[in-house]
Amino acid sequence: MPKKKPSHSYCLGIESTADDFGAAVVSFDGKVLSNANDAYLPKEGGIHPREAARHHAEVSEKVLAEAFETASVKPREISLVAFSQGPGLGPCLRTGATAARALASYLAVPLVGVNHCVGHIEIGKLATGAVDPVTLYVSGGNTIVSAFEAGKYRIFGETLDIAMGNCLDVFARAVGLQQRKGAPFGAVVEELARKGKKFVSLPYTVKGMDLSFSGLHTAAVNAFESNKGTVEDICYSLQEVAFSMLTEVTERALAHTQKPEVLLTGGVAANKKLQSMLKVVADEHGARFCVVPLKLAADNGAMIAWAGILAYNSGISTPIEKSFVNVKWRLEEVYAPWVEAK
Ligand code: AMP
Ligand code: MG
Repeated sequence: MPKKKPSHSYCLGIESTADDFGAAVVSFDGKVLSNANDAYLPKEGGIHPREAARHHAEVSEKVLAEAFETASVKPREISLVAFSQGPGLGPCLRTGATAARALASYLAVPLVGVNHCVGHIEIGKLATGAVDPVTLYVSGGNTIVSAFEAGKYRIFGETLDIAMGNCLDVFARAVGLQQRKGAPFGAVVEELARKGKKFVSLPYTVKGMDLSFSGLHTAAVNAFESNKGTVEDICYSLQEVAFSMLTEVTERALAHTQKPEVLLTGGVAANKKLQSMLKVVADEHGARFCVVPLKLAADNGAMIAWAGILAYNSGISTPIEKSFVNVKWRLEEVYAPWVEAK
């Protein structure tokens, strides 16, 4: 493994866990200089892992070039390459990992494999100034309530089946909604939910600190198909039930840990209704409510670069021979010494 002491302090971050291929340049002092992205939009149905990986391979050169150009940083000025090592879809992860290994070898700089969930938490902390939050991380592939304790981000509650974002996406697809570039399914559901007038009863499933969304999704589709309300009413009811579940579990983690902040991160963090519900809970517990900015909410290269910088500065790097992807890499398996170092 080539070792070059950082002379220019920039990290290139590569994200490719699912539908997004992202590349970003972030400086070691935490400035996001670029954050380029190209999302795979399936013609029909959900994400096909091999199709998404093919998309990532096709756009990688363009996205990487854009990341360097926007940042006005040359590849030779990069001192670290970070990539999403997991969790995620195997073929997609491998495409990003291959690009990262090739670049790190070519540039003779260290490589660091980043846990995708850690990336979402750390970019939320960087962007909002949160130091020690209870984090609700909600995205297309994950739903996790966590807080830092004794060297690791501990999971207090998580989904037992599908993720929050996935629940919204599969519901939207089943009832015939269309997503657009810049308006993912979750945002389309949010738009419609604002016009909902009638609450349609749907199953609320919290088991201990864990959550289940698959029955809720099925019930919402059934409610639409049996005309229990307009699509706006069902979107409104789906959001009310799902977000109340998330808020309940987050509030319990907050009451238990007494942390000073609540951080909302991940693609679903863009949702204003969810933001407002969590803010009420944070206020009631005297905690500061922090939400990741929209441009850093969904999967992106900047969060990988920043988490890579934090890890590298704590002495962590990933030799190429150990850089295989880990599709089931859990958040609580990651030793995070940089958090304690604060
Ligand atoms: P990520 O997996 O972090 O890239 O986030 C993508 C997920 O965020 C998808 O499931 C989207 O439908 C969801 N999403 C994006 N915008 C919104 C929104 N405004 N409300 C709810 N979900 C959203
Ligand atoms: Mg995504």
